[in-house]
Parts: sequence; C-alpha cells; structure tokens
Amino acid sequence: MKYLSTRNASLSINSSQAILKGLSEDSGLFIYDKLDFSLNLEKMIEMNYEQIAFEIMAHFLNDFHEKDIKESIQAAYRNFDDPEITPLVKVDENYILELFHGPTSAFKDVALQILPHLLRNSMEITQNDNEIIILTATSGDTGKAALEGFKDIDHVKIIVFYPYDGVSEIQKRQMQTTKGNNVFVIGVIGNFDDCQKMVKACFSDEKLKQVMTKNHQQFSSANSINIGRLIPQIVYYVKGYLDLVKNHEIEMNEKINVAVPTGNFGNILAAYIAKQIGCPIEKLICASNENNVLTDFIHYGVYNANRIFKKTNSPSMDIIVSSNLERLLYLYCQDDELVENMMESLTRKGSYQLSDLMHKKLKKDFYASMTTQKQTQEIIQEVYEQYHYLLDPHSAVAYKAVKDFEKEKINSYKTMICATASPYKFMDTVMKSISSIKGSEFDMMEACEKMTGVPIPENLKNLKNFDILHDQKIEIEQMKETVYRCLGEQYD
Ligand SMILES: *Cc1c(COP(=O)(O)O)cnc(C)c1O
Repeated sequence: MKYLSTRNASLSINSSQAILKGLSEDSGLFIYDKLDFSLNLEKMIEMNYEQIAFEIMAHFLNDFHEKDIKESIQAAYRNFDDPEITPLVKVDENYILELFHGPTSAFKDVALQILPHLLRNSMEITQNDNEIIILTATSGDTGKAALEGFKDIDHVKIIVFYPYDGVSEIQKRQMQTTKGNNVFVIGVIGNFDDCQKMVKACFSDEKLKQVMTKNHQQFSSANSINIGRLIPQIVYYVKGYLDLVKNHEIEMNEKINVAVPTGNFGNILAAYIAKQIGCPIEKLICASNENNVLTDFIHYGVYNANRIFKKTNSPSMDIIVSSNLERLLYLYCQDDELVENMMESLTRKGSYQLSDLMHKKLKKDFYASMTTQKQTQEIIQEVYEQYHYLLDPHSAVAYKAVKDFEKEKINSYKTMICATASPYKFMDTVMKSISSIKGSEFDMMEACEKMTGVPIPENLKNLKNFDILHDQKIEIEQMKETVYRCLGEQYD
C-alpha cells in the first residue's frame, strides 16, 4: 500500500512519509492508493483491543517494523481507564461505543496517544533527524489530547491554536494547565475554521519552509488531516462490531449502522474505511449540530460553506469546512484533478457541487441529520431520565440522529453510536439538561457525580487546582508571527 495526495495521484510515498509530513505540499491530503486486503472477522473474534489494532494497523503501516507497531500500541493504550479501551454499553435498543476513556476524556485520545509513537518510528524509518513542529488547530478536544501525547517528547515542539471563546471552560483549563517544556498553547480571537485555515496556510508557506529547513525543522500535524490520526480510529469500529457478536446481540456478518457526531469528518471517515475493509456496516449516520453544512451536503450534493458560523453547545463540532471530506471525494472519484477543482471552487466561491454519480454514492453510504441545541439538551435529559445513562452533548447529537433515522425506516439493522466525550467535559450543558443546579463548570462536576453516580474521570478531578501556565490570546492576523516566535525566529 502506498499513499498519494488527493490533489496529486502520481505521488507515491510510504506511510511513514505521509505521517511525518501530515499534509501534502499541494495542500491535498494523503490517502492510500488501494485497499488490498480485507478483514478476517472469524479470526479476530477472540482478540483483545491491542491485537485487533495490530491486525488492522499493520496493513496501513506496511513500511513499519511489526515489532514497533506492537510496542506503540502497547504504550498508547496503557493510559486508558477501561481494560476494553473502547467499551460498548447497551442503552435501550442502542449500543453506545464509549470512546472517551483516554487521558483527556475525548475520543481524540485513541489516535493521539499513539501518534507520537508512530511519528518517532516514522523518523527512524526515513532517517529524519529534523525537529518536528506539530502545528495544530483545535475546536477543543484535539488540543489537549495532542498536548498530552506530545508533551516532553524529544525532537518535537507542539503549537496549539484554539478559539479563545469557542471552547468549554473545562476544555480551556485542560489546555492552559499543560506542563512540558516543548508546548505552546495559544488562544485565538476567532473560530476553529480561522485557526484551521491559518495552520494550513503555514504548511504551504514557502518563506516559513526556508527558515525551517535552515533550522532543521519541519511541520507535521496532529489534526485529522494527518493520516496517522485516521488509521488508529478504524480499530474501534471493528472492536465494537466484534463485541456485538461476542455479546450475542448480532450474528457474525450481520450488518449494523454506525452513528457518528461529526465535525471535521475524520471519525466518520474512519468508519467508512472500516466498512471498506469488510466490517459489515450498512449506513453511516452523520450527525451534525446547527452548523449543518454536512447535512445539506449529503441531502443535496452541494457543499456550501457560505453560512454563518454558530457557537453551539457541542463546540467540538462547530466547524464549517470539514477537511476530511476531501479524502472521501477522492475515494469516490479517484480523480485528483476533479478533487483539486472542487477544492479550488471551495476556496474561491465557498462552495462546490458533486456530480450525480458521486452524490448517489454519498447518499447510499451516508444518512444525515441535524440537531438543534435545544434538542441536544432534551436528549441528554430524556436518556438520563429513562435509562440513567449520561450523554455528553456531542454524543447526544448522534443519539438524536439515530432517532431520526429510525423514524424513516430506512433499514432495521442495529445501530452503534459513538460517544465521543465524557459528559464531564461539558458540565454546563449537561447539568442544565438534567437539573436546576447552577455554578461554575468545576463546582458542578461534584454535584453531577453525587446526583448521577457517574464517576468523574481522574484527569478532570483536580483540574481546577492546577496552575494556569498558558494564557496567551491573539488576533487571527498574529498567528503566523506567533508561529515564527515559537520557532525562535524573527518575523518581518
Ligand atoms: C472532534 C470531536 C468530534 C468531531 O469529530 P470529527 O472527526 O472532527 O468529525 C465530535 N465529538 C467530540 C467530542 C470531538 O472532540
């Protein structure tokens, strides 16, 4: 398996190079050229998470030493607070795949706990001794998960830009209190799209590149634009599926649907890839909040980013330009020029349109639904009161999408819902939904634990007592200058 760029299919590089670079120089995203294997589910049924992870990841990382992949997997998932890593919980007739048992209580940990190891292996394989600068834009959860993964790693600096007023109080505190001598955490007066756009611009900035080459530095990315983020995420869909079989909820090879609260389209794309390698998934249910650009895209085949950005109560999905869609487009048409034209149209006009054929494929694979902020709260309340299960707002958006899907009677397969964050990361919305208790998000954590019996994750327990180490806040225009400064350079 080789990797090419969605905007230049003649490129042919190994997985180690793709992971090191993060983003292609033509601004395209790296994607595999072909899938030349399919899963042997019968063989995998008795495997634990780590074994399943190896079985899958070794195919995608085929220039890595098997021993290194195994060691990376072992090291990465030691820090999870559940031996199943991504436990499956039955709630009513649905199955919730809990992806938030990592060290920062969001699903991003599943990939970001292993990415630093994959990056180190990639440097060894390619005999690269540059200093790696991880440049990251975050809507809230990637930032902390990346910081936890990369802090104090030799030969690496990590710079995180987050929307200063666009994340929850707890998310902000998690990032601001990160220790480590190689971390930069910077609030931007703007939204996630502003941060992501500037990060992408830095990757293709010629002048910056010259300076960095001189300093033996190079960028890589911890965002889901890095293929090294997506590969580890394929694993839990297969693990979840096999758990359904093991628990006698489905027969082997029986199809299921998967519902994913979606922002940058990384997680749901991993589900799509799981399907491509033989995990019996029928529909991918793409759940959006009021920033419903993807809902419209799936319904109408037109991606229209010309709309007002909304700050919602599921902030990690407050995104208008979903980067990973570009990979799906490439997989659908296998035409780098067409993808480049669509992306160019997105930059120039803020929109692009699919051909009828591509739209048909999209509608066959995906179902889309939008959930308002009010509905998000109602779902959190309803699921808590009826089933005593506490959803975070993002997972609630997915839960509601499944209800919409079921109303339409599209199929009668069982559905697995991704729960992407601990409810304790979004206390304000969660407590507003289930109680009349008011207070700071930190105070409400204890009240919530008392009331619901759901334990506060270890990493969030003492958060309010940690020292704030990073409180920088800048304008969007200052981002590039700030990158220079983090690299120890003058900006002119
Ligand atoms: C990042 C995130 C999402 C969106 O995932 P994408 O891969 O960007 O689509 C959903 N929920 C939570 C809690 C997140 O942190």
